[in-house]
Amino acid sequence: MTRVLVVEDDPQLVRALVINMQARHYGVDAAPDGATALRLAAARQPDVVVLDLGLPDMDGVEVIKALRGWTRVPVLVLSARRASEEKVAALDAGADDYITKPFSMDELLARLRAAVRRTEALPLAPETTVVTTDGFTVDLLAKKATRDGRDVRLTPTEWHLLEILVCSPGRLITQKQLLQEVWGPSYGSKTNYLRVYMAQLRRKLEADPAHPRYLITEPGMGYRFES
Ligand code: CA
Repeated sequence: MTRVLVVEDDPQLVRALVINMQARHYGVDAAPDGATALRLAAARQPDVVVLDLGLPDMDGVEVIKALRGWTRVPVLVLSARRASEEKVAALDAGADDYITKPFSMDELLARLRAAVRRTEALPLAPETTVVTTDGFTVDLLAKKATRDGRDVRLTPTEWHLLEILVCSPGRLITQKQLLQEVWGPSYGSKTNYLRVYMAQLRRKLEADPAHPRYLITEPGMGYRFES
């Protein structure tokens, strides 16, 4: 049974989440604040954490940082905050995904399933280092991309970006994470670099670069590879 830890201080929302998750055979624990969340995370070892950012005793981002000190459990952030900086801070602290309130229960449950699937798929076994989509194929070991049976020539920078994205299918990678990983720690705000290189990657890999199907932009946030 998949165990979910719900961290949320709104009792009505907690009740709705618990009912919907239990109906889908998840085991659910609920914590109304950050301190309880950290205690339950250690005691119950959940498979996924659903975390509200606005908690009575501490900021949800602090909860993520504390969790990331010892666990890679997927964290799906619930945020009432429209400000994308808050979501970026949560993602940079190690959250895997976010959903903005008010949200549809169906969307939340879909993202929950995706988060659990991703951990089940990891780590990539050596024989699964080929990422295949309907449009192109990426061989991570051979460092080769092909499209319609033909090799796609990528620069080392393009390759590095693509590699990071396809290694985390479905997961939002923030601009800052990509910039720091590919260009270095002092490049965290050079978002124009990303726009240029992502446009190049799309021209080389997407059938319709203006309407990408695989290399998706989350405006103001980052990029996501959809397989
Ligand atoms: Ca709250």
